[in-house]
Amino acid sequence: MSELLNFFHNRQDAMLELLRAQVETESFTRDKAGVDRMIDLLQAHFTRMGADAIKRFPQQDFGDFLLATWNEHAPGKPFLFLVHVDTVHPPGTLATMPVKIEEGRFFGPGALDMKAGIVIATEAIGGLLARDQLPQRPIHFLVTSEEEIGSPQSEPVIKSLAADCELALVMEPATAEGAIKSWRKGGGQYELTVDGRAAHAGIAPEQGINAIIEFARQALEINALNDLKYGTSVSITMVDGGSAGNVIPSQVKAKIDTRVMTIDAMNNLHQALTTLYPKMPGAKVTCQRLGHRPPMERNLDLFHKAAAIGEKHGVTIYEGGTGGGSDGNFTAAMGVPTLDGLGAHGDGAHATHEHVIISSLPRQATLIAALLSEWNADR
Ligand SMILES: [Zn+2]
Repeated sequence: MSELLNFFHNRQDAMLELLRAQVETESFTRDKAGVDRMIDLLQAHFTRMGADAIKRFPQQDFGDFLLATWNEHAPGKPFLFLVHVDTVHPPGTLATMPVKIEEGRFFGPGALDMKAGIVIATEAIGGLLARDQLPQRPIHFLVTSEEEIGSPQSEPVIKSLAADCELALVMEPATAEGAIKSWRKGGGQYELTVDGRAAHAGIAPEQGINAIIEFARQALEINALNDLKYGTSVSITMVDGGSAGNVIPSQVKAKIDTRVMTIDAMNNLHQALTTLYPKMPGAKVTCQRLGHRPPMERNLDLFHKAAAIGEKHGVTIYEGGTGGGSDGNFTAAMGVPTLDGLGAHGDGAHATHEHVIISSLPRQATLIAALLSEWNADR
């Protein structure tokens, strides 16, 4: 075992204690009081860790955000940690899903996504402080509270902090196979509206323009935009149309979910969806984007650089990716080098068997500490 890994291995019990305190503080995205209790807990922790600056961003509808900074005035481009304290588990989940440790695994709501990631990152910083090895550049640690619903309020905060950063470190869990995430698909949600003309289906069907028939033709065309081999998926997920059993339907509305690997694919798809034209005379077709997250495009150079640093300390990392998004999508799309999935290994995120593999805590803390202290030396 390398010296650094051994150091964090000896800190494992302290990490578990911190993880238990966090998991037992329930913090469902929609429960501001609960999320704020998690923010209080971290604020006290950052104070104990001697952060140079701690700033709280009060929120109306969600839990507050928190930004802790070390080496505030150091030269050099900052590192930015991105973590979220909110979970998908409603208040009271602990009653049916209590914290338990079994066969080297720590079970509990939000343990994997991503409270263990918070523990790992704070422990890496704390360990480097204790060893007097914190790099001479600012280290920002941003804690947000609404990632699980797409970061509607924190997106601009994340982007403004990321703008001049050297590296963004996203503490989301690793893939199920234990690989860090060097790519994430982007996604866009669209609403399709097809307008026809209503008419009595018995008396004057010829006067109607059947929006369902127009929709059916559009649906086939939209479905043909799928290019699964290149990671592009286009899925019509909801349909609503017609008004009565004896009326030619005048309108159909549908929801479309899109996923892409590259920004080019995102732009091409957007172009195709927003220029659909009606097939039936008199019909109208509009397709509107309701929201989107750009893809985090695969970056192998960045992965190899991180892997080489980990290897020096006996931590081997693998490369993977996922169809799901994170806040890393925002920073990567800005061109900021972004490493994601740096958190714990485990399984069952968002599910009742959510758990963390305990030995991954010191392992990932070693990796993060090494990345922070050696990022420059390796360039
Ligand atoms: Zn997460």
